[in-house]
Amino acid sequence: MKYIREFRNPHLAKPLIERIQAYAGPALRFMEFCGGHTHAIMRYGIRSLVSPMVDLVSGPGCPVCVSATADLDRAIALAEVPGVILTTFGDMIRVPGSRESLQDAKARGADVRIVYSSLDAVQMARENPDRPVVMLGVGFETTAPTIAASVMHAEKEGIDNFFVLSLHKLTPPATRAILDAGEVHLDGIIGPGHVTTIIGEAEWGFLPRDYGLSCAVSGFEPLDMLQAIAALIQLAAGGQPGVRNVYGRSVTMHGNPVALGMMHRVFQVEAADWRGMGVVPDSGLGFRDEYARFDAAQAFPVDIPPPVEHTGCRCGDVLRGVLLPTGCPLFGKVCDPAHPVGPCMVSAEGACAAYYQYRED
Ligand code: SF4
Repeated sequence: MKYIREFRNPHLAKPLIERIQAYAGPALRFMEFCGGHTHAIMRYGIRSLVSPMVDLVSGPGCPVCVSATADLDRAIALAEVPGVILTTFGDMIRVPGSRESLQDAKARGADVRIVYSSLDAVQMARENPDRPVVMLGVGFETTAPTIAASVMHAEKEGIDNFFVLSLHKLTPPATRAILDAGEVHLDGIIGPGHVTTIIGEAEWGFLPRDYGLSCAVSGFEPLDMLQAIAALIQLAAGGQPGVRNVYGRSVTMHGNPVALGMMHRVFQVEAADWRGMGVVPDSGLGFRDEYARFDAAQAFPVDIPPPVEHTGCRCGDVLRGVLLPTGCPLFGKVCDPAHPVGPCMVSAEGACAAYYQYRED
């Protein structure tokens, strides 16, 4: 198969659906790590197509959602430093911090601007040499290399007013944290397709080795998802955990060495604070000493009061796979995309947004 339409072809999907529906063994629960997968599952009604013996839960794969409230507060405080232009990808601007969002700060006069690429932020720094331009670095292994490339570009161009607040997160350590916590029983993981394009299929080898759990790395079309679920069922039924790559048109065994090289040249692995999981060792990226002058956290130390979490919002539980979005008492009542209480309802990759957008009334 070569073209997108083939990955949406109902005639090709039918035998896969029949195979999945025919499963009648012990109950299985799979976690789709990635928010993009949650949206695909909801959009194409895949939850209702699988066997009643197969349960799907969403995981922490939405970088906007997993950004801790304290980090959001820091970003907002940075936006309020006199002279600073704070640049961000669009999703972050509406996420509520303890007291307000970046959008609220912008309405009060902070210079917050949406960019579509971190190179746009570098260009902004070039055009505003007397003002610091801070890029909010939010994303997984997919985004971090592009931000690293921007830092290297700014260095090469001698641009000294470009900074990054690095809130990047790494996916395998978060998966380990969920499994180590033991709150949710899982029989397999649908591995994130875009992230694995960068890190490589081999990075998920720890799942069968250390946890006896299978992983199927999937793309984002309905046939991708069905193939991943079918592969996980087959692996579970066979009792031999393993890693399957059903996204072979994008994912290789060892990923993208150029992207990984840039990421590790600029950043080093360190602990990161995740919404719902707290501080997870070795799950984030901070600046290496050689690039520390681009670190917004060091360049603009700001004092922020302790974070305040929103009463009733269960994003943390949703991100750990402990709760479906529909299990949150606020879902669709006081929390919807027009009035989001938590980030999982704001982000285009948020599980609550997916369940709301594709809900059956
Ligand atoms: Fe938070 Fe809203 Fe999701 Fe509930 S429905 S967990 S309040 S984002």
